[in-house]
Amino acid sequence: MQQAAKHLPKEFIPVTSSIRRIECSKAWSQLASREQLYAYYLSRAAWEGSKICYFQRSYEAPALFVLLQLVFSSKLESLKVRVLGAGLLEQQWRQMLAYSAAVFQNCGNYKSFGDTKFVPELDAEAFKTIVRASENYEMHKEVMDSILEQIEREVFTEDEPFARIGFRDENNGTTSYYSSGVTSAEAKMVDEWCQSLSISPLNTRLFKLTATEYELRIASQLSDPSATPYLKTYEKGGKKLHVRGADFADVMSTVVAALRKAKEHAGNDNQRNMAQAYVEHFRYGDVDQHKESQRHWIKDVGPVVESNIGFIETYLDPLGARAEFEGFVAVVDKETSAQFNTLVEEAEGLIEKLPWAKDFEKAKFSKPDFTNLDIVAFACSGTPIGINIPNYDDIRMDFGFKNVNLGNAYPVPTAATTQFLSQSDVDLNCRYTKESLTLIVALHELLGHGTGKLLTKDVETGELNFPQDLKNPFTGEEIKTYYLSTETWSQKFGKLHSGYEECRADSVALFLMQYDEPFHIFFPDRQSEWDDIHYAGWLGILTSSVKGLQYYNPEVKVWGQAHVLASWAILQAVREGDPSVIQIEFCEKDGRDYFFLHVDRSKLRTTAFKALSEFLCKLHTYKAMGDFDAAKAFFDHYSQVDDEMLRVRDIVLAWKLPRGLELQPNLFLDHATHEVVYKDYEDSFEGVIRSHVERFPDSFQADVWGEWVKDAKALRYD
Ligand code: ZN
Repeated sequence: MQQAAKHLPKEFIPVTSSIRRIECSKAWSQLASREQLYAYYLSRAAWEGSKICYFQRSYEAPALFVLLQLVFSSKLESLKVRVLGAGLLEQQWRQMLAYSAAVFQNCGNYKSFGDTKFVPELDAEAFKTIVRASENYEMHKEVMDSILEQIEREVFTEDEPFARIGFRDENNGTTSYYSSGVTSAEAKMVDEWCQSLSISPLNTRLFKLTATEYELRIASQLSDPSATPYLKTYEKGGKKLHVRGADFADVMSTVVAALRKAKEHAGNDNQRNMAQAYVEHFRYGDVDQHKESQRHWIKDVGPVVESNIGFIETYLDPLGARAEFEGFVAVVDKETSAQFNTLVEEAEGLIEKLPWAKDFEKAKFSKPDFTNLDIVAFACSGTPIGINIPNYDDIRMDFGFKNVNLGNAYPVPTAATTQFLSQSDVDLNCRYTKESLTLIVALHELLGHGTGKLLTKDVETGELNFPQDLKNPFTGEEIKTYYLSTETWSQKFGKLHSGYEECRADSVALFLMQYDEPFHIFFPDRQSEWDDIHYAGWLGILTSSVKGLQYYNPEVKVWGQAHVLASWAILQAVREGDPSVIQIEFCEKDGRDYFFLHVDRSKLRTTAFKALSEFLCKLHTYKAMGDFDAAKAFFDHYSQVDDEMLRVRDIVLAWKLPRGLELQPNLFLDHATHEVVYKDYEDSFEGVIRSHVERFPDSFQADVWGEWVKDAKALRYD
């Protein structure tokens, strides 16, 4: 007798996944009690706002959040007893924990790193048994059953279009920034329309109402045209666009309340003005108010408690126009920050070394604040290791920006997690990852994202911010492409911009590691180790590009992750310049296909550096000129994957290690003493789940549920 084929998921969260703790207790304990209260209220605003991230990820993610919050908000130990009593195996329970921890950490069931779907390893029947064994099931039976019914297909299927994030007509994916009927062409059409109306898409979603009518929804507590004048209906060419506020009104109102409390505990006027501008922004939805908050934020130099909140990064939107909600709170690490500031002081000397002509660089480098922080709360779908914000081009040009290094979010490699390198490279990589990453992040953020001029024409005065006779250095012809003052670089480059910009920043970092100056600042007494750290920096970028092949989809020839594509293009540029720098040795390990990546260390400072310089010069100059066509052809060329590398990709996938899950602490307010309590959790799936569930005191998340029910139909794909 034959057994029916068992459902074997391809992409799940293995029960062997490791946990990466973000530890901040020491820095936290050094804060004064006013600073702790300020941090507490900011973190409340951030976490409450992060509920929006679920809505930005997929149709089913918010409902999954409501469901898992209900399932796990009673004691895990007693739930486990009930689950095993219902006939499930210990292994299935572990699979449910791994899946749920990952959903909480990624704000949904698509990986924030790579935007691909993951499904439960346990089957749907076992999943439902656990849901129905939970204590809350009796009281919330109706809601929980209704969720199961409405999202089962999306949670369990890995078939297209439910496998990745994207436009259905572009890469056969799904996206919840748009109602399910919106095509990529329509999204683009509305985006251009909004540009012409000066309406920012950052904090919006787009719904298609009829064949000719669209609704642009702006995240805000209120919909008040007297405060936000662009809330009205526009008509053009037989099409209508209704711009309306009050998207996520309930969540926004909680965020606003928390920010008002934060303002009461602010340490200076910059912080108070910033909090007030945030309140205005989240209350009425006007992005100009968010820009205002960023002006005050930039002026708040070197604060003890650092934070930022809003609709910030546009990686997740397939159009690259709408931003994901994000909020973080961190405590400054004074010692390392001093080194970062020395780098800022010496930045101008380093900029002169960069391989592009002076006309393509800003006349004056505005010195940003650059601090090393320990994260207490990073409320979004994943924690980066460095940030350079704001992303508003005009604010950056006129007021500058800030850099932060998130020191306690760095990954810690071990021999077991370092793959495809020879033993001596494994040892060196483990020994120097922290040092080389510190340097790369510092250079990437400060001199990578921090440099570069956009050749711009003022639409009002017609004035150019570059010499009229400036020539395109590659063709010798007059410059015909440039930015209009109403245009941002991300709008002009669209989907290309994020991988392109990360690549520019990484290339700058590797380029500047060629010189001693950064080493003098960060490791003054360790001169004998500098070359090893330099080598570890190159190894880091080259191995992550090869391992990053898992985020490349050969069928549609699309890279799923901006930072991975960035290092891939660098590897390709170096291979093209001198094929002997990087060698792939195919072999067998434990009876399975394997490969070693060999890097000819002696050539990194010669031919590899030369190839990198030429690559970086073009990459940068095309961006500065706003020459989208040349930039796209150039970057697409280096994004290609040849047959040898497709073979490498297969091996990378076969040896793939589970990506660790993040664990963050919580802050609670003791209402009796008015003191803030810092709470850590155990390094386990249970710890991750507890930390998330305790962040939101109500086991039933009525605001998320209410919001989800309203639009579920419009967002669901056939
Ligand atoms: Zn970056």
